[in-house]
Amino acid sequence: MIYNEFNGDKLSRLGFGCMRFMTESGSGNVDQETVDRMFDLAIEKGVNYFDTAYVYLGGQSETSMAKALARYPRESYFLADKFPGHSLPGPVDNRALFELSLKRCGTDYFDYYLLHNVMEWSLKIYEDPAYHIIPDILKLKEEGKIRHLGFSCHGGPEMLEAFLDKYEGMFEFVQIQCNYLDWTLQDAKKKYDIITKRGLGVWIMEPVRGGKLANLSESNTAKLKALDPEASAASYAFRFLQGLPNVKVILSGMNEMFQVEDNLKTFEEYRPLSVKEEDTLFEIAESMKGGVPCTGCRYCCEGCPIGLNIPYLMDCYNTFKVDFSLNSSMRIDGLEEDKRPAACIGCGQCSHVCPQGIDVPTVMSELAEIYANGPKWADASKGRQETIKKDLHM
Ligand code: SF4
Ligand code: SF4
Repeated sequence: MIYNEFNGDKLSRLGFGCMRFMTESGSGNVDQETVDRMFDLAIEKGVNYFDTAYVYLGGQSETSMAKALARYPRESYFLADKFPGHSLPGPVDNRALFELSLKRCGTDYFDYYLLHNVMEWSLKIYEDPAYHIIPDILKLKEEGKIRHLGFSCHGGPEMLEAFLDKYEGMFEFVQIQCNYLDWTLQDAKKKYDIITKRGLGVWIMEPVRGGKLANLSESNTAKLKALDPEASAASYAFRFLQGLPNVKVILSGMNEMFQVEDNLKTFEEYRPLSVKEEDTLFEIAESMKGGVPCTGCRYCCEGCPIGLNIPYLMDCYNTFKVDFSLNSSMRIDGLEEDKRPAACIGCGQCSHVCPQGIDVPTVMSELAEIYANGPKWADASKGRQETIKKDLHM
């Protein structure tokens, strides 16, 4: 196993993400026997970082992880959990919520604790004084119940930079969605640089983009097989991330034994990608994109009569083109109504100045339609809000 030193801890570079445990059909309960077996093998081969969140699997992720880990000494592994600010039904007793997580995880402290899903939309909650989240979390850290504080982030680089500037010195690490596709598609490179420049650790989520990079199209699979017929597509995605020196932990949401076995093999030793391998990955990434070639130059922004953040919206559009996901919707949810794509009046000023020749008004109108018909965070989080109310007897 490859390890990293981070602020006094020796962390396995492969972290076990606990959000995708298999559930039994019918009961909906986590298949604990499989979780135990996966953990046993991972621990035997050196994995010592386990990551869960209050909201994963309606709380079952925390309890199931705890059951599997209870068979090992607490000091032999690092436990990470997340505060569900993005899913709150309104201001709640933050300490009670945190203590419920501790109880479910069978511990009295977390090694790593994160504000969950800080992004353009959820910032409104995390920073709202009525919710009192940041002061309460800092108090818990002061009391020693949190060893290292960080946050996970699905937001864009501008938001990330502003948030880190505002709370300078508060966080030690940031967890971002990063893989060889999002390196350019979701500006993961920029985010990696922003975090690294501040001397903070980078944690990785979605290394294989929810399985997309582990199950490539036939033609892309053939490109990788030509390099090495034995290596899995997922192993290339992980090796790309291993090559980023400031990546401390790469989380993989493993739910089947073969994934654990394959990942453990990949993390046995550091094997940097050759130039040819890296070129092939970027070629595959390009073939998966279907959006517009916006470079983020912002030439179009000054003359927009509505003041739209055009490159930001182009970015949302490009993400939607790869994957019709809640993540992209959430980024638009975070904008005021008059800054969303539907506010575009189609004047075409932007297209005249765009060096990439992008037909921005047409893209805006398509994006407005996709967004209107897409999933909304407010709807998606209703179930979680009800669960939190029930958990806190509200
Ligand atoms: S077409 Fe839309 S995005 Fe472009 S400048 Fe006009 S209002 Fe702004
Ligand atoms: S001018 Fe074109 S490439 Fe530049 S930010 Fe605007 S849309 Fe993107």
